[in-house]
Amino acid sequence: MLRIIIGNAFFGLLDLSVGGFIAYIAGITTGVTFNTFQYIAGSFLASSPDIDVAYMYLRKGRVYTNHHEFVTHRPIIGIPICFLVCWAIGGTTWGIIGGICVLWHYLHDTKDLFGGGIALFWPFSRNYHSILHKTVTPEESAMNTEHNATLDTIILRPGKKVVVETTASTIMLATVVGNTTNFAAAVAIAGFVWLNLICVWIIFKKRNELDNIP
Ligand SMILES: [Zn+2]
Repeated sequence: MLRIIIGNAFFGLLDLSVGGFIAYIAGITTGVTFNTFQYIAGSFLASSPDIDVAYMYLRKGRVYTNHHEFVTHRPIIGIPICFLVCWAIGGTTWGIIGGICVLWHYLHDTKDLFGGGIALFWPFSRNYHSILHKTVTPEESAMNTEHNATLDTIILRPGKKVVVETTASTIMLATVVGNTTNFAAAVAIAGFVWLNLICVWIIFKKRNELDNIP
C-alpha cells in the first residue's frame, strides 16, 4: 500500500508541478495575483486525466487495464471539456489555463516525454504516435505493463525518468514558491522533495533486499 501511495505521488509530481507553474505564468501574463488555492487548481487540472487511475484503484485496488484507453485520455474530448468547464467557472483566463494544463498532460503521456504512449489523434488513429519513437498499437505499448511494477522499476529506484522529472518539478515548484513567498521557502520545498525521494529509494532498496526482489 505504501509502495503504491509513494510511487504514484512521485509518478504524478511533474504534472502537479507543471499545472501550478502554468497558473503562475498565467498570473504573470495577465497581471493578476493568484492565491495558493488557484495554484493548486492548476496542479489538479494538469493531473485531472489520471482520475481514471484513482477510479481503478478505488474499484479494484489496482490499475487493471490500460488507462490510456479510457475516455479521459482522449485529447479531442478532454481538452474542449476542460476548457469549457474552466471557462464556465473562472472565465476566459481559466478556460485557457485548463486547456493548456490537460494538453500538457497528454503530451507528457507520449513516449517522447517519458509516458507510456497515448492515442493523440484518436478517433483518426488508435495508435500511439510520438516524434522520437516508432508508432505502436495500444497492445504493443508500454501501457500494457502492470502499473505497480512500473512504479517499482522507474520511480522507487534511481533512474532517468524519476531523476529528470523530479529535477524539473523542483525547479518549477521552487520558482513558484520562491516568487510568491521567499527564497528560504523555495530552498525548503526543493530540499524536502529530494530528501524524501532519496529516503524512499534507500527504504525500498532495503525492502527489496529483504524480500529478495532484484
Ligand atoms: Zn495520463
